[in-house]
Amino acid sequence: MSDIEIARAANKKPIQEVGAKLDIPSEHLLPYGHDKAKVSADYIASVRDRPDGHLILVTAVNPTPAGEGKTTTTVGLGDGLNAIGKRAAICIREASLGPCFGMKGGAAGGGYAQVVPMEDMNLHFTGDFHAITSAHNLLAAMLDNHIYWGNEQDIDIRRVALRRVMDMNDRALRQIVASLGGVANGFPREAGFDITVASEVMAILCLATDLADLQRRLGAIIVAYRRDRTPVYARDIKADGAMTVLLKDAMQPNLVQTLENNPAFVHGGPFANIAHGCNSVMATTTALKVADYVVTEAGFGADLGAEKFFDIKCRKAGLSPEAVVIVATVRAMKMNGGVAKDDLGTENVEAVRAGCDNLGRHIENVKQFGVPAVVAINHFVTDTDAEVQAVMDYVESHGSRAILCRHWAEGSAGITDLANHVVEMVEGGGAQFAPLYSDDMPLFEKIETVARRIYRADEVLADARIRDQLKQWEAQGYGDLPVCMAKTQYSFTTDPTRRGAPTGHSVPVREVRLSAGAGFVVVICGEIMTMPGLPKVPSAEAIGLNDAGEIEGLF
Ligand code: ADP
Ligand code: MG
Repeated sequence: MSDIEIARAANKKPIQEVGAKLDIPSEHLLPYGHDKAKVSADYIASVRDRPDGHLILVTAVNPTPAGEGKTTTTVGLGDGLNAIGKRAAICIREASLGPCFGMKGGAAGGGYAQVVPMEDMNLHFTGDFHAITSAHNLLAAMLDNHIYWGNEQDIDIRRVALRRVMDMNDRALRQIVASLGGVANGFPREAGFDITVASEVMAILCLATDLADLQRRLGAIIVAYRRDRTPVYARDIKADGAMTVLLKDAMQPNLVQTLENNPAFVHGGPFANIAHGCNSVMATTTALKVADYVVTEAGFGADLGAEKFFDIKCRKAGLSPEAVVIVATVRAMKMNGGVAKDDLGTENVEAVRAGCDNLGRHIENVKQFGVPAVVAINHFVTDTDAEVQAVMDYVESHGSRAILCRHWAEGSAGITDLANHVVEMVEGGGAQFAPLYSDDMPLFEKIETVARRIYRADEVLADARIRDQLKQWEAQGYGDLPVCMAKTQYSFTTDPTRRGAPTGHSVPVREVRLSAGAGFVVVICGEIMTMPGLPKVPSAEAIGLNDAGEIEGLF
């Protein structure tokens, strides 16, 4: 059965019953239909002083085109923990609508480890992305309007930093000329669109701790520069208040359920390259107040996702993760071992073994943050016993543990071993989380630290322009920000074709950008696409309603 068929057959409970599992009173669940609700800001404020539950991160090896199953494993582990009697919830990101019509898989997990209603989650859901798009474009409209009515802030229209956003893959809008058509339409200038998940407003929504913090961060977005190169902030054009109004409801985390009726918080979805790639701090901190175990996911492989989860999200939100699950698949190990995608179906133990070096490095890396790690082998029906054993042996020979998980095929019943082991890890109290670098380290040294210790590069290459820019930001008071690395997800290096565990490489920095509102310095190493296009045959061509009015072809 396809993911959407399994999801459609789900035996969903009314959302109030799901909330009751966490003792969230139904008057604090603001319903969006029968199967989705937002948790009220009042309730969140009322549980602020409770102790926190245990936080578990699910991350993965470097992804291969097949998809490794981080979300599937996050959902499965949440169900597995519930199945062994723990009060557990999961926290994952919301999906971007645009890519669903291109070629991407769903964002709700897969097989018998899914979040429902998956159609809603992958489409309009509770309107959060609409709110983010609106808030962002309000700022863009106010910026051009400010220029139009006399430009009191003396904005250099050649140095407008803010682009517009929409939640659609549309390459035609990447680079445009705005304000054409005469005096009444303003001053023509080059502009462009990014996809909504690339908006700094998205990153801000996901890092803000309350509405006051949200407004402060929105006000700190740099929208343009003056002729003297000083930044113009969103607050300078008085946009922060109205933007906060548009985002007020969107700040409340969404509660839905897994196929096994366990609570799932689905909230926020920033890009994992130019942003930090984790669900909202609001959702994670709320879940930690109402559940004993919270399982969450970070985008991409552990070199990007886990590093940013630790160094940006946990650092800023004061979170202390206690265990990490690194998802690996036999297929990914094979591809890291040099096998082409079309040959994945044939048994190849040698290639699996060779590819395990990629996994081994991620295990070592995660341990550098002081958090114990376990490997979850996400089982595919095509995996042979010998291939699975090769991964197990490798991990054990490196002093860690790998556990075979069949949650995709079996739901919670297939993942209880991992759930029990995670509980042991947490109860063992072995975690002593610390970020990789301190706040006061100079920005360039932060980049070097990540490149050397996580990517295992020899050096970081950056020309004087970039180094000067970083120094200038330090002088302006931004030196204590973490760095947000934007590089390919497919390799430890900046070359997507170099799989495995390469050494002896260098990390060239092409550009640095200040996300002053989100609170990080984006370090761009390689081509980063902030407005995707659709493929030659977009999946939209196969999506439609059937005679029963149900959605077909989504996944
Ligand atoms: P990630 O979060 O790492 O991007 P997902 O959990 O979203 O990956 O899974 C990507 C795709 O792979 C989904 O369509 C899912 O159904 C599929 N998938 C995941 N695990 C398995 C498995 N064990 N067997 C078959 N397909 C799987
Ligand atoms: Mg995912």
